[in-house]
Amino acid sequence: MKSERGNGAAIESLRRLPVATAPATLLPAVLKRIGLGDAYWRLESPVGPVFVAHSKAGISMVTRAASAPDFERAFERRFGRAVAPEKSPAPAKVRGLVRNVKGQGRGELRYDLRGLSEFERAVLLKALEIPSGEVRPYSWIAREIGHPGAVRAAGSALAKNPVPLLIPCHRVVRSDGHIGNYSLGGARNKRRLLEVEGTRPALLERLAASGIRYLGNPEGKGFCYPTCGGIEDLVKTNTVRFRSEREAMAAGYHPCRVCRPPVARAS
Ligand SMILES: [Zn+2]
Repeated sequence: MKSERGNGAAIESLRRLPVATAPATLLPAVLKRIGLGDAYWRLESPVGPVFVAHSKAGISMVTRAASAPDFERAFERRFGRAVAPEKSPAPAKVRGLVRNVKGQGRGELRYDLRGLSEFERAVLLKALEIPSGEVRPYSWIAREIGHPGAVRAAGSALAKNPVPLLIPCHRVVRSDGHIGNYSLGGARNKRRLLEVEGTRPALLERLAASGIRYLGNPEGKGFCYPTCGGIEDLVKTNTVRFRSEREAMAAGYHPCRVCRPPVARAS
């Protein structure tokens, strides 16, 4: 056993060692080599080039940036870890889904959502269920995940979506039916994406502006959100317009089982 004095001397000699600072590039390089670091591609999307980062857990970030260094800084600021360019090309599936917003299979990709709360993850996973060509309001997301009162929180979770385009938060609109904002370049880009998907954002805005929230089918007596099953067919066959679920139900209509609008509360 070493004496007190011996330990003291050992500690003293450790103290005298020069302090070495690892170069800033060392940690990301090591993390990358052991498969823990994030790496990114620059891919084409309908709203211009985007940077797409992934970790071992899945896709971790999709965003626009003026340059690769700008993206690297934004990534590090958000996640507190570094990101490096990926040497191997992006898998065809990722490249395809970023380029073609109508492409199927977003739910089959893996996403790295570690930094998010359980609520935020639930919101994003729910948004993945909205098919191309359709939209749902924030209030639908909140209700579907069992937090009907948390409409604003659902909106914030979508605004913070780390992987827009892949998790299609552009398919979630304001609860009054207006298109609303979008993290990846604002409302203009959101409208552009919806346009590409055939959702007819201008028509949605017109319906919202006149207070129309639901369309009803006089044959089957069901009422739907205005894009259920695709807006083109819906506006042809669902000719009755409702301003609220209460109005629809008072007229003898029932909520569609596919798009699941709310059931009017008895007053
Ligand atoms: Zn429906």
